[in-house]
Amino acid sequence: MEIKKIGVLGAGTMGNGIALVAAQSGFEVVMRDIEERFVENGLKAIEKFLSKSVEKGKMTEDQKKDVLLRIKGTTRMEDLKDVDFVIEAVFEDLELKKNVFRQLDELTKDQVILTTNTSSMSITEIAVSTKRPEKVAGMHFFNPAPLMRLVEVIRGYHTNDETVRIVMEMARRFGKEPVEVKKDTPGFIVNRLLMPHFIEAIKMAEEGIASIEDIDKAVKLGLNYPMGPFELMDLTGIDIALHVIEYLYKELNKESKWSAPTLLRSMVRAGKLGKKTGGGWYKS
Ligand code: NAD
Repeated sequence: MEIKKIGVLGAGTMGNGIALVAAQSGFEVVMRDIEERFVENGLKAIEKFLSKSVEKGKMTEDQKKDVLLRIKGTTRMEDLKDVDFVIEAVFEDLELKKNVFRQLDELTKDQVILTTNTSSMSITEIAVSTKRPEKVAGMHFFNPAPLMRLVEVIRGYHTNDETVRIVMEMARRFGKEPVEVKKDTPGFIVNRLLMPHFIEAIKMAEEGIASIEDIDKAVKLGLNYPMGPFELMDLTGIDIALHVIEYLYKELNKESKWSAPTLLRSMVRAGKLGKKTGGGWYKS
């Protein structure tokens, strides 16, 4: 089956970024959210990103218009009826995702591959809510989706080779570099490496070993990373870091190395969630 039209579930940070990536790669896109205002916000974010690209001379005004014409925003689930490939990017909530996959399974053609952009949850558990678990895979983009090159392609227990091949190929058609995660493991590759890095950084700050500024500086200058752990948490959400760490703790046999630092919990309780609230490790 030729893939021409992509369905994206969710018009939030990841959904609108993925919709933009797909449209820029020449696909028709239907981006669905639950309320008109969320769809509008997603479309505005896409327009803003494209306008900046025009300003920087990376694309022409006509190219921008073409990309925008390929994206249809909607609140109607039925509008995904004739899509050829699906990427789900709704909230990180297992029951919600299972429910969305159940609806997609009923609505879309039998041969359509359904992927999820979940950051950490079980692909297998999401897949078994459908009657086509062999056609369900993880397709994990990174934030901001239009700029980050990596896509983790995750195999659920039932995912077949053909599905993995097509999802890897789609990632390449989106201009991304895919890696295959051969087992459905919590956190996949990147978050499984990143969370211990966050945990240790927070513990060092808690123990007064170094200031957050100096920990970030050490990581940037000593490891040549573009951002330190505290800067990165402010960008991606301190609440999301806690959520992922708690999930890994639960799924990886409650080993103490995965337990969330007290300071991280306090930050979330105090509503200091990072960039989206305007206050995090850096702006208090
Ligand atoms: P977000 O809160 O910005 O957006 C989620 C959107 O989903 C909201 O607009 C919400 O209204 C919408 N939604 C809820 N129920 C829906 C439904 N039934 N149908 C359609 N839309 C629905 O969240 P986000 O940061 O874009 O994250 C989305 C997914 O991507 C999560 O699974 C998250 O773990 C994953 N992810 C996030 C990041 C990141 O850095 N933000 C990176 C990689 C993966």
